[in-house]
Amino acid sequence: MQDAVCESLVALPNFSLFSFSKLILAMEYKQFVFNPIQENTYVVYDETGEAVIIDAGNFNERENAALADFVSGKGLTVKAVLCTHCHWDHIFGLDWVAQQYQPQIYCHAADLAWIENFGHICESYGFGERTVAYPTKFYSNGDIVSFGKSELKVLSTPGHSQGGVALYSKADNLLFSGDTLFFNSIGRADLPGGDEQQLIESIKNQLLTLPDDTAVLPGHGLQTSIGFERTNNPYLQ
Ligand SMILES: [Zn+2]
Ligand SMILES: [Zn+2]
Repeated sequence: MQDAVCESLVALPNFSLFSFSKLILAMEYKQFVFNPIQENTYVVYDETGEAVIIDAGNFNERENAALADFVSGKGLTVKAVLCTHCHWDHIFGLDWVAQQYQPQIYCHAADLAWIENFGHICESYGFGERTVAYPTKFYSNGDIVSFGKSELKVLSTPGHSQGGVALYSKADNLLFSGDTLFFNSIGRADLPGGDEQQLIESIKNQLLTLPDDTAVLPGHGLQTSIGFERTNNPYLQ
């Protein structure tokens, strides 16, 4: 009798079975705050164990170890590094990650000059002699990056840098916004290739058109949401 009740509970409610499968397929992420510029690096993964690293900002042995411990502790396979843009604070760890995991490295081609000048920038800003891995793939607006059972859509958002992108999961209501959109703020536009008017247009056209309840995971600082920023962000009113 007990068995019969259990069976009917499992077999009948299609809706809860659907919810359950949604739940176990959800993308998960771990946020690290790395390097002297307090950059957010994200490891994004799903239940298949495949992962991508969004912005490899790990800077020293301690931060490399923190990243490696998380990846091995979860049993993840790092398939790719996705650069939201190529400013130094977002690519400090690219060389280490490339050697450790041999992933594909994606960026937007319009940010290549930042990769090419990385060594020079590090020396002139006092970060010492450092090397960087070269991207293996370029993505552009509308491209889809897949890993495991998950997908991220590339949204081109120039203005903070010319090759800036945000990475969006519609299924999981998540947006990795890089240095474009922050909690109650926006990225700086005074570096080479920056353009504040273009940045604000990118945010309004590409990001504020997403659903209000989209979680925004920025390249620095606190998590926010599209709805909160649409209403409160002083740069976007
Ligand atoms: Zn930046
Ligand atoms: Zn940054």
